[in-house]
Amino acid sequence: MEKKNIDWGNIGFGYMTTDYRYVAHYKNGAWDEGQLTTDSTITLNECAGVFQYAQTCFEGLKAYTTEDGHIVTFRPDLNAERMQTSAARLEMPIVPKEMFLDAVEKVVKANEAWVPPYGSGATLYIRPYMYGSSSVIGVKPAEEYEFRVLVTPVGPYFKGGAKPIVIKVSDYDRAAPNGTGHVKAGLNYAMSLHAIVTAHAEGFAENLYLDAATRTKVEETGGANFIFITKEGGLVTPKSSSILPSITRRSICYVAEHYLGMKVEEREVFFDEVPNFAECGLCGTAAVISPVGEINDHGKRICFPSGMEDMGPITKKLYDTLTGIQMGRIEAPEGWIHTIA
Ligand SMILES: *Cc1c(COP(=O)(O)O)cnc(C)c1O
Repeated sequence: MEKKNIDWGNIGFGYMTTDYRYVAHYKNGAWDEGQLTTDSTITLNECAGVFQYAQTCFEGLKAYTTEDGHIVTFRPDLNAERMQTSAARLEMPIVPKEMFLDAVEKVVKANEAWVPPYGSGATLYIRPYMYGSSSVIGVKPAEEYEFRVLVTPVGPYFKGGAKPIVIKVSDYDRAAPNGTGHVKAGLNYAMSLHAIVTAHAEGFAENLYLDAATRTKVEETGGANFIFITKEGGLVTPKSSSILPSITRRSICYVAEHYLGMKVEEREVFFDEVPNFAECGLCGTAAVISPVGEINDHGKRICFPSGMEDMGPITKKLYDTLTGIQMGRIEAPEGWIHTIA
């Protein structure tokens, strides 16, 4: 397979049009066969549910080239399950797990020339998504839907290694109790844009959102879950029904417990206990773990002992172990690595 002529080490985290994408249509209560297409455009009626009432959800995962030259994805079954939860919450049809996995596999295979080589730091980002495609004007679910999967190569999230970031405590809320914070809905991102643009303008990399009801507990950032490392070397991660259940975070907790023998707690984390932690990181597919060096709470700085130069030592161990599993250098737990080619 001849790879595309791309400077893999220097592509950013952006969209590039690749050769194939997958599309399936839902009509009269059933999904059609689904197929690959070379057409990267979508034509919809002006009144489609996605345009009028934001009826859309998505997923995000990556395909990697492993050390021994295979193309694999990481726990795609969990993305399939999570998309079902998102769809149900938004009154959209369920994409069967087999159909989801088949679509991901087909698109990655068809775009094999776009899968970055091992060691480049780049990966193939996979974006499955679904939206209401038939017209609605009265507020109700659409009757027809499209499920699509697109892929685009993305560069290493951190060029030249992961430097700790500074984040701020946001005055905005991300998710209400009993709202949609636990599902991957586009609407959760639309309403976060103003908060993130504001934070960036103030010089912060991300927002830490507190729980909307009491504003005393740590929730997550706009697109990543928190992990904290205690001074005793344990892992603590916030528990809340309005947090998006990150697959990266769940995998890190497993790795911490079963590979590194760490004590792992998923529990409510009060903001006023944050200064007691030794290390802090953000978990998500894009960066795996972004180390946090400082949290700014309205001018009051919480600086973690791990500092601003490098990832904390335990965060680094977690990062190396998980990325080692993903790249095939370390043996994976049963079922985590899905080989495509
Ligand atoms: C996607 C997402 C994450 C990260 O989840 P992963 O499965 O690890 O990629 C975290 N928080 C939010 C709000 C998200 O949308």
